[in-house]
Amino acid sequence: MAEASPLYQTYMRAPLRFERGEGVWLITENGERYLDFAAGVAVNSLGHAHPHLVGALREQADKVWHLSNLYEIPGQEKLGKRLTEATFADRVFFTNSGAEALECAIKTARRYQFSKGHGERFHIITFEGAFHGRTLATIAAGGQAKYLEGFGPKASGFDQVPFGDLDAVKAAITDETAAILIEPIQGEGGIRPAPAGFLKELRKLCDEKGLLLIFDEVQCGVGRTGKLFAYEWSGIAPDIMAVAKGIGGGFPLGACLATEEAASGMKAGTHGSTYGGNPLAMAVGNAVLDVILADGFLEHVRDVALVFRQGLAELKDRFPDVIEEIRGEGLMLGIKAKVPSGELLQAMRDQHILGVPAGDNVIRLLPPLVTTAEEAREGLNRVGLAAEKVRATLDTAARNESR
Ligand SMILES: *Cc1c(COP(=O)(O)O)cnc(C)c1O
Repeated sequence: MAEASPLYQTYMRAPLRFERGEGVWLITENGERYLDFAAGVAVNSLGHAHPHLVGALREQADKVWHLSNLYEIPGQEKLGKRLTEATFADRVFFTNSGAEALECAIKTARRYQFSKGHGERFHIITFEGAFHGRTLATIAAGGQAKYLEGFGPKASGFDQVPFGDLDAVKAAITDETAAILIEPIQGEGGIRPAPAGFLKELRKLCDEKGLLLIFDEVQCGVGRTGKLFAYEWSGIAPDIMAVAKGIGGGFPLGACLATEEAASGMKAGTHGSTYGGNPLAMAVGNAVLDVILADGFLEHVRDVALVFRQGLAELKDRFPDVIEEIRGEGLMLGIKAKVPSGELLQAMRDQHILGVPAGDNVIRLLPPLVTTAEEAREGLNRVGLAAEKVRATLDTAARNESR
């Protein structure tokens, strides 16, 4: 099969073929049901086939699909207004993906410094374990050797320091620094929240040094932590923020948000995108916000998160030789495994529950935000059965060794 495949062999795909989805469930071609706590890596924020999203997409499909940014697009004005009213931002640029939202954020920060007469300030400080996408600039920003190798010289202007190390940040600031870029909670890096108070310290530092603070909320944003954006928990706000994944609920959509001041260098002609902000994407993005901004929705996320949190803590106590630690905020949860995490993930898949691998031997649980308490308990039950299976193999291995 693999040899005959017409596709790039860039993904290590699980041998599963899903035909359709219903809420938190994915159903294979053979009719087997899987509890989807991967949610397309935090993309299917409202689960699968949400009637309000399906309706919005269908309705727009009958009107107009694409217009180009040569014309006014009312859906952009509407979604932009809602995003700016709900956040620190005054301006929005729409993209098709997270990496493009980051590209826009990086360009916005560099251009801001340039427009203030500081073209030499183009460096951005980033953090070890970060993930910002797979374009040439964003692999340089993420700084992971495995993503950079063989792709020519690393794009210049990204200086990396250990995550959470304020002294290292201070030491890395030079006359050429434009901004600091951070995920409030690292996703790919292994569900690692920034240490308490760290974002506040970065804000102070940026204000003192005339730097811009950029948050990458591509994974942790759009309700995932129980607030619309994760930065709201920190008591401070960034100057620029990249958003994607959950905002489209499965339709390719991203956004770069900025304050009026931070966006002041982005004049007509400085940036663009053919598809960014396309009417179909705007219809879906607005429909996603209809649901997430509705009264009580984020409260629901926080309530269900508590069920997960307690359930996972119990599992850790029950299986201390399988689970080392539970991490994360809201419905952005990580199980740090004591066994190779791939074994636990496979055992979970055998129980028909999906999670996502991450760095640091962590399995991510990123359930749809519409997950009910009952569905959460069903998931916890399945993770428990998987942990039991993994522990049984450990016991067998130990017995064989002592023989
Ligand atoms: C997924 C992700 C990206 C990249 O998004 P794409 O849509 O894959 O380009 C960037 N930053 C974070 C934190 C992400 O989780």
